[in-house]
Formats: sequence, structure tokens, C-alpha cells
Amino acid sequence: MKMRLELFLVVSALICATGKPLSKATARNKLLLISFDGFRWDYDQDVDTPNLDQLVKDGVKAKYVTPPMLTMTSPSHFTTITGRWVEDHEVVHNMMFNSTTNLKVPHKQTLSRSEWWNNGVLPLWITAQNQGLKTASFYYPGGGANYSGQAVNRALLEKFDHVDDNETEWRENIDKVMSWFSDEDFHLVTLYYGEPDNVGHAKGPDHPDRKKIIQQIDRTIGYLRGAISRHHLNDKLNVIITSDHGMTTVKKRPLVDEIILNKYLNLLKLASFEILDYGGFGILTPRPGKEQEVYDALSNAPNLTVYKKSELPESFRLAKSERLPPIVIVADLGFNLNSRFIVYVNRGDHGYHNGEMDMKTIFRAFGPDFKKNFVSEPFDSVHVYPLMCKLLQIEPAPHNGSLSVTEELLHGTGGSTARLSAALLLSMLLFVFTAP
Ligand SMILES: [Zn+2]
Repeated sequence: MKMRLELFLVVSALICATGKPLSKATARNKLLLISFDGFRWDYDQDVDTPNLDQLVKDGVKAKYVTPPMLTMTSPSHFTTITGRWVEDHEVVHNMMFNSTTNLKVPHKQTLSRSEWWNNGVLPLWITAQNQGLKTASFYYPGGGANYSGQAVNRALLEKFDHVDDNETEWRENIDKVMSWFSDEDFHLVTLYYGEPDNVGHAKGPDHPDRKKIIQQIDRTIGYLRGAISRHHLNDKLNVIITSDHGMTTVKKRPLVDEIILNKYLNLLKLASFEILDYGGFGILTPRPGKEQEVYDALSNAPNLTVYKKSELPESFRLAKSERLPPIVIVADLGFNLNSRFIVYVNRGDHGYHNGEMDMKTIFRAFGPDFKKNFVSEPFDSVHVYPLMCKLLQIEPAPHNGSLSVTEELLHGTGGSTARLSAALLLSMLLFVFTAP
């Protein structure tokens, strides 16, 4: 009897050990994070996407993901890679600006400007490197900056004239990333593609060319899966595919009257700094003593909401930002904020309220640590960061996400099949050894 009890205790301990998810004893798998800029959550629903469909069977899918306010490329990508709200990481626009000096730097030129990205919050690359991992950024926003003097181990930056939709180059980039994993033992690579954002802006989300680029993305995912196999990474590499925001059709005359803000206030007289001709989101610094006048005038304009920074809704997670100017404007879905005349020629745009379904984006993941055939409820993109730390088995930096939201995507949570079969096997052994 004593012997049986001892055996039972040993077996119980073994069952517990097997069931422990991604413990330090488990081999650390590698992680590839891919972002397809501007991939709206439902872009795969009106076009044939066999490879994306297969991913749902072979991995996990979230019904959709909610990006942070601001639904723009740099702010949202930086929330994903830091797990911080925009008010904390302070990348508050695609353009770099200084509202005192009136400096404005276009998006692509910001990508190597550390003073725009490095605001005391450490992105995943740096936190992982500080814990002994090797990381790389392939065009991912923020990857080209230095953080507290540290650079990402390897960072490729998009050239100013980079062509975003070259399918051959997309495949070459995958081949390069695979060799980084298999030949150079990188642990984390973030890979960025500028589509379908460009097509969405230029032609609108309903244009046939948007469907074509989604099919190109789908073929690229098929290519990726083949490349993973060729490099023998199937049971070593986890892959997350996501994006930064959605896209909506811009409303134009004669359907609507476009917003021209100078109709409601004299911008030159009342404001010392502005970024207004940039989709659905605008910022403005009133001249001294003019804040209330600017606020009142903009409050009279239709199809937009004006906020004093101090009165921004808590849910925006923007009010604490030091960089944001005192006045923030958000246009209604599909309206663009034009300052003096219609300068913005886009057919599609983003930057609108993150509660709008058109701003929601995608999430797919597969690999050895992810469940199969699992569809999760929607979640905020801020929760992807603790998931990535868990996958890489590193201590996260302080962040605003919660692993409890995304942990259910992984094996070892909610009773995986591996855990059950181990328990079953050990119970049988117990029976054999203890049977009289
Ligand atoms: Zn974007």
C-alpha cells in the first residue's frame, strides 16, 4: 500500500509537470510577427483566400482586433510592439512634429529618428535582447530607432521610394527572414508589408484591386508556409499575422459636403500649429488665450468631434500624452479633416474612432504553441504584447496588456489534447503497476 501511494504521488507530479503551459523546461520556440498594413478585419470575406482559410484550421483566429486610438500606422504598430497605450509610448502621429518649433517630418523619414520613438518605453526587441535573445526588424515601424542607446540587433528600413506591392520581393523577404531564423538563430523577427494600406487609400476598400491585393497576400501566406517547411521550422516557429488598423470609404461630394475647417474659424489667426489635412484625425495648438474660441468654433462644425486634450475620454488613452497639442479633432467615419481646401485625394482612409467596425483589423496565429482550429472573441491589440513575451519566455517590460486575454490561444490553457493524453497514459501505467 505504501509503495502504491508513493507511485501515485510520482505519477501525479508528472501529470502536473506535463500540464504546465510553456514552462521554462519547454524548449523556447521562435516568433515571427507579420503586419500587413491596413488589413481590415473582414477583407478576407468577399474574396477567395484558401491559405488564410487553412490558417484558421491549423491555428487560431480572433474574430477581429481593436487597434488603439489612434488608428494610424506608427501609433498602432508601436502599441503592438510595446503593449503600451499611445499616451504612454507617445508616438502620437505618423508624422513627427514639434508644435513649438512647427517642425513636421513625413512618416518614412521618421523611421530612423530615435527622438520620435524613444520616449522611455522599451519595445519587445530591446526587452528580448536584454534577456539574451537575438531579434530583427524587417521594415517594421520603430525598428530603426535606438532605445536608451540600444539598437535592434538587425533592422532593415524601407527606402523612401520603396514599391510596396512587388510580390517577388515579398517572397524574397520571407526567404531572408527564414534564413535569419534557421542559419543565424534569430529568436524574434518582425516583418512589415505596406499593403493592403496603399491600395485601400488610393482606390478605396471596395475596389476590385483591393480584392486582388488580398489574393496576393493570401498567396504570400501560402509561400510562407512552404518556406517554413523547407527550413524545417514547423515545430520551432510561431507566427502571428496581424495589422494596425482597417480602412473606410471616404465620403465625397455630391453625397456629402466635405469638411473645410477654415469655414468655421480663421486658422491663421487662431492657431499657431496644426496637422489637419491627414485623414480623420487632427491636432491643433491655439494661439495664447484662444483655446476656448477655437474649441467653440470647431464645436459648431458638422461631422466631427472636438476635444480639449484634458477632456479626452479615458477610453482613448490619449489624455496623458505630453506631445499631443491642446485640441484634438476626430471626424465622423468617412469624413476627412481639410484645413483650407480639399487637398486629400484618398478614396479610402483610417484614423477614425477605434470603435468603428471599419477600423478593426485581423489576427491569425499558428505554430507549435498555438491551439488548432480555435476562434477567439475579439480583443484589443495591446494584449498581443504579453502573448509574445509568453511565447518567447521572457519577462515583459511594464505594459498595459493582459495575458489572461490572449493566453487562451495557446496550448496548455483550458485542457489541451497533449495534456489529456499524457494524463491518460500515466493513469494506465498507474493501473498496470498497482494492479494486484
Ligand atoms: Zn497603417
